[in-house]
Amino acid sequence: MHAFEYIKPNTVWEAVDLLDADEDARPLAGGMTLLPTLKQRLAQPTQLVDLAGLEDLQIISEGPSSLTIGAMKRHVQVARSPSINAFLPVIAHLAEGIGDPHVRNRGTIGGSISNSDPAADYPAAVLGLGATVITNRREIDGQDFFTGLFSTALEQGEIVMAIRFPLPERAAYIKFPNPASRYAAVGVFVARVKGEARVAVTGAGPCAFRLPQMEEALDRSFAVEAIQDIEISQEGLNADPSATPEYRAHLIGVMARRAVEAAAR
Ligand SMILES: Cc1cc2nc3c(=O)[nH]c(=O)nc-3n(C[C@H](O)[C@H](O)[C@H](O)COP(=O)(O)OP(=O)(O)OC[C@H]3O[C@@H](n4cnc5c(N)ncnc54)[C@H](O)[C@@H]3O)c2cc1C
Repeated sequence: MHAFEYIKPNTVWEAVDLLDADEDARPLAGGMTLLPTLKQRLAQPTQLVDLAGLEDLQIISEGPSSLTIGAMKRHVQVARSPSINAFLPVIAHLAEGIGDPHVRNRGTIGGSISNSDPAADYPAAVLGLGATVITNRREIDGQDFFTGLFSTALEQGEIVMAIRFPLPERAAYIKFPNPASRYAAVGVFVARVKGEARVAVTGAGPCAFRLPQMEEALDRSFAVEAIQDIEISQEGLNADPSATPEYRAHLIGVMARRAVEAAAR
């Protein structure tokens, strides 16, 4: 591991000043991805700016039609939060299915979306619910947030403060987990939000993406029968030792049908 400075600021503005002043400084959340990256010398930050002391990133707040979750909420806190379980149980269920107990105890929702791992679960929820990512500078439509493999719309010195999820009429997330890591080999998030169907996929491409063809079919009828004959193209889907593009295309169809069934119940 290369040498770096560790700093734990007490306010968002202090953290942002540190990140703005040094383009090689990096925010640290749960460290579940960042620390192994440092150990393998794949990154060489000069400073780690620990976000753990920032109270503003710890909120969970309910509005009349949305629920906002602070970036530093750990997966276990999301899974066990009474208000998330009451107002947005699909997100509690998603968080409960992430990784193993160690990862759930340390990893955060903000770290997860900022990392934009192609197999992470939260990106499917951000797209599937039409969430908004709130940073220290602006609000980013979830649709514009994930820009590719491990890349997002975040700029230097910009930190995710919270994610605002609209409350859906129906929603379900089903994943086919990689048996070793529990990351999604394929995960499909299905929802009806403000009368419109949304379908988002993770694990299958460079980053999470939506399936307009399925959304149109579910707009006509929110039922498994509406999507069962839709062919998923394997073009551009990931190939790795856990699944071929062809298998991933098949899994998208299966996970989507299961998610619609669960959401319709
Ligand atoms: C063994 C293992 C299994 C896993 N399984 C799953 C799984 O099944 N599903 C799943 O979804 N995920 C899984 N993960 C990922 C994990 O859940 C974490 O979400 C992920 O590692 C990053 O979150 P973190 O809080 O640890 O962020 P960190 O590792 O601290 O940071 C990750 C990146 O995001 C940046 N960052 C962090 N917070 C912010 C912020 N607020 N604003 C801007 N940038 C920020 C950091 O600078 C860094 O570049 C797994 C990880 C491991 C190690």
